[in-house]
Amino acid sequence: MIDLHSHTNESDGTCSPEELIEEAVRAGVDTLGITDHDTFKGYDRAVPFAAQAGIRLVCGIELSTKLHGRSVHLLGYFLRGDHLAHSGLADFRTWVLDQQAARRDRNIRLIARLRELGFDITLEEAEARGKGMTGRPHFAQILVEKGYVANLRQAFDDYLDESAKGYVYRREPQFAEGVAAIRRAGGIASLAHPVRVKGDLPSLMPELCAAGMNAIEAYHSDHTAATTALYLDLADKYGMMVTGGSDFHGAAKPGVQLGSGCQGNLSIPNDLLEKLGVRVSKAESQPQS
Ligand code: AMP
Ligand code: ZN
Ligand code: FE
Ligand code: FE
Repeated sequence: MIDLHSHTNESDGTCSPEELIEEAVRAGVDTLGITDHDTFKGYDRAVPFAAQAGIRLVCGIELSTKLHGRSVHLLGYFLRGDHLAHSGLADFRTWVLDQQAARRDRNIRLIARLRELGFDITLEEAEARGKGMTGRPHFAQILVEKGYVANLRQAFDDYLDESAKGYVYRREPQFAEGVAAIRRAGGIASLAHPVRVKGDLPSLMPELCAAGMNAIEAYHSDHTAATTALYLDLADKYGMMVTGGSDFHGAAKPGVQLGSGCQGNLSIPNDLLEKLGVRVSKAESQPQS
């Protein structure tokens, strides 16, 4: 079984890289893509565990980008056997570190702003939760736990939302910039969970293609049979490759299982990886009878 979309606790998942590999073994997933938000740390740490467990590990990442002011998630996959030596990937890793630096810079200013508003909150506390991917949801949790707000909703509405008084600006990559960075590194740039794209996707497609996007995540645990069919059609129409995965986050999203999605709603075809240009031996690609 293939699953090309999962998160470890290096971003917002709850499983350590080692636990995620154990989970893959348990779920019968033999080809696993780790796509942490804005970091390769989970993938890097999982490499030896995957080798030991006999799991084919796919190097991936999920970038948060902006498209017409709205958030769009973008998956990057680095499938070349020699990808770790690929010089473009070294540049991409640097680009990712720059994005993390922009986030950390924002977090420092966000802490200053929240302290100005009278909250006793520190960067250390936030980073203890979010590590390199510390974001507003972590700040919101702390505000709730310290009793400053009743719930996460109120934390955002009153302080953290773009329109609220605690908001501070962060530079975020535009969709086209993220796609270009992935493609320069020899990666596949796939539109993550297209069902969550705000606006009319069919009419956005020409623009996304022009940016260099070359795949669509047609299979995802948020998709129904009907939406999957729609995205497969769009991929076909625009000559895009197709990717798929559960978006497993461990206990952070308890309804989603690795490989099979929500109550088995995910069914990723066995030849998906070959269609992405990975050479898979004949014996491996035959369904087990
Ligand atoms: P950050 O990347 O640190 O700016 O945080 C962005 C994340 O905060 C998003 O991915 C959402 O999960 C969450 N978020 C942003 N705005 C809101 C909001 N108004 N209500 C709830 N969650 C939000
Ligand atoms: Zn996530
Ligand atoms: Fe996402
Ligand atoms: Fe994800």
